[in-house]
Amino acid sequence: MPERPDLDHILREIHETLAPRFGEGAVADYIPQLARVDPRGFGMAVITLDGDTHVVGDADTAFSIQSISKVLMLTLALGKHGEAVWSRVGREPSGSAFNSIVQLEYEHAVPRNPFINAGAIAITDLLLAGHTPREAIGEMMRFVRSLAEDESIAIDQAVARSEQATGDRNRALAYFMHSYGQMRHPVDHVLGVYFHHCAIAISCRQLARVGLFLANNGRDPVTGGSIVSPSRARRINAVMLTCGHYDQSGDFAYRVGLPGKSGVGGGILAIAPGRAAVAVWSPGLNAFGNSLLGSLALEMLARRTGWSVFG
Ligand code: GLN
Repeated sequence: MPERPDLDHILREIHETLAPRFGEGAVADYIPQLARVDPRGFGMAVITLDGDTHVVGDADTAFSIQSISKVLMLTLALGKHGEAVWSRVGREPSGSAFNSIVQLEYEHAVPRNPFINAGAIAITDLLLAGHTPREAIGEMMRFVRSLAEDESIAIDQAVARSEQATGDRNRALAYFMHSYGQMRHPVDHVLGVYFHHCAIAISCRQLARVGLFLANNGRDPVTGGSIVSPSRARRINAVMLTCGHYDQSGDFAYRVGLPGKSGVGGGILAIAPGRAAVAVWSPGLNAFGNSLLGSLALEMLARRTGWSVFG
């Protein structure tokens, strides 16, 4: 394995190999606004710890961040509440779909992990402590923009409205937890904030930049700023590796071997600790709600670079 892989060459190769398959998979349509996305889009960005950025395809096209925002929600909640976060959510893979309600009853409404919808809704409740919904959304946007060093990142209000209009499953999850006394704030406030966090529009280039601190022990290698402690970065990566792809998390760890978090917008953020942050986007999803070609692209990247965390 070369010490310094030729990332531009590898990205071009991945793009060429997958190009005949662009459009494969099914674009999420349970959020109507997401169904309008061109299914043939494909972009990828790799940013190494020295700040070198390598891109291919539609790396500057904004897509809906969706569940990848759950990593940022968890990071903010840990900053605000520390280890107390783990009294509101577990950190075990669920083995169930991202929006599943079945396990909640057995768990007395404490979701299995922060990366399934129920878990992220509980985390959002924590983010509302001492904040109005508008302030909680503002806090997230400041966080994302400062990590990306890009003030242009914004919420796609049409996506937020679309989620709000069709989010009955999320409402059911939230009210179920509320019925167990697990919600500290009004359910409609929590969901409003949750939907807005999911509706952030971001490109692969911006997303990889956002995730770079997780590849560098919690410190942004470009600005030198400390975002989280090294042990917290390790733990967030551990939860991404074990829970980042819902009931396909084991398969992703097996095939790619990197902490990763997917979203139904077709994006995946993957972290190669000590090396790079990677973002890929291709809107066609597989049956688990994870980007079909996005995970193939990451599998190819991990193989060609030797970046698996398993050596
Ligand atoms: N906003 C989406 C939802 O709540 C997020 C799901 C996802 O990306 N898996 O259903």
